Amino acid sequence: MKALFQAGDVSSSSCRACRKIVRTRYEVRTVHMPGTRLRVPNVLVDVCTECDTMVSIPRQSIPQLRETGAWK
Ligand SMILES: [Zn+2]
Repeated sequence: MKALFQAGDVSSSSCRACRKIVRTRYEVRTVHMPGTRLRVPNVLVDVCTECDTMVSIPRQSIPQLRETGAWK
């Protein structure tokens, strides 16, 4: 059984804005789908704690985005 992430969990990941490995925090946010005007509320994402940029979307959130039809 796979452990799921929860809001408030911390991790580390590479941030494109900071251009380095940063501490990240899982937060529930509204995600703007790139290239569309769609916004998906209440999605758990991984956020850079230094610049507040979303650095990744955990696998468990992807079905939620797929439901919008905008996620390929
Ligand atoms: Zn950053």
